[in-house]
Amino acid sequence: MDAPAKAGWDALVADPAGALVALDYDGVLAPIVEDPTLAVPAPGAIEVLRRLAERVGTLAVVTGRPAAQVVELGGLATVPGLIVEGQYGAERWVGGELTTPEEPAGVTAARAAPPAALAAAGADPAVWVEDKRLALVVHARRTADPDAELGRLDPAVRRVAEKHGLEPHPGKMVVELRAPGFDKGGVLRRLAAAAGSRAVLFAGDDLGDIPGFAAVEELRAAGTPGITVASASPEAAAVAERADVAVDGPAGVVTLLVTLSDQMSE
Ligand SMILES: [Mg+2]
Repeated sequence: MDAPAKAGWDALVADPAGALVALDYDGVLAPIVEDPTLAVPAPGAIEVLRRLAERVGTLAVVTGRPAAQVVELGGLATVPGLIVEGQYGAERWVGGELTTPEEPAGVTAARAAPPAALAAAGADPAVWVEDKRLALVVHARRTADPDAELGRLDPAVRRVAEKHGLEPHPGKMVVELRAPGFDKGGVLRRLAAAAGSRAVLFAGDDLGDIPGFAAVEELRAAGTPGITVASASPEAAAVAERADVAVDGPAGVVTLLVTLSDQMSE
């Protein structure tokens, strides 16, 4: 760990009440699985979240998924005080209450477009489109060569995005079309400002988490200590390179959070 990261860790431990601990869900708290509706937390993940919830000022899950879906899937309602920022901060769940915006006009207009555009581009039949109401996600995980398939479909997907005023955001074996103005960096800046956080930790595993890492780096430059953690996977090596610390998948994240929680209570 280099000096700024160590300072971030030490500040979290020294002042848990001033800490913001924010974690992605898929690939960080829950192992990635073929069927995303079966992605459940790693062993020990919920237990350590419950322990952290008693200690830290702000504990948040920051995900691209719909907030209610991840609460249900993860059993997150059992973690007292947890904030779940869903769809890159477009919606929020806290204390059993979901706040979610109107569906963006661009998504309504674009809803029928991706399947047609993909068919016209000769997409592999294993490509499918997930409708998240606030965003549309093209999934290539089930194809033989997801990166090549997405590369081939990229022009068609970009045309749909452009036509409907949506932004294309690449991720692991996916590209997501969503309304402009939402990313995990914005979520972290907002959470830290709202709580007056005095130290920040953010853990992610995918390209959509890099704006979150950038926000921690900005906070650090502005005097708030922080640390970024990658839940490393071969599918997104750039994420591990960008983070202060790389751990081995959700099991490694759980170990790191247990250490943090233990040190906070010493
Ligand atoms: Mg993830």
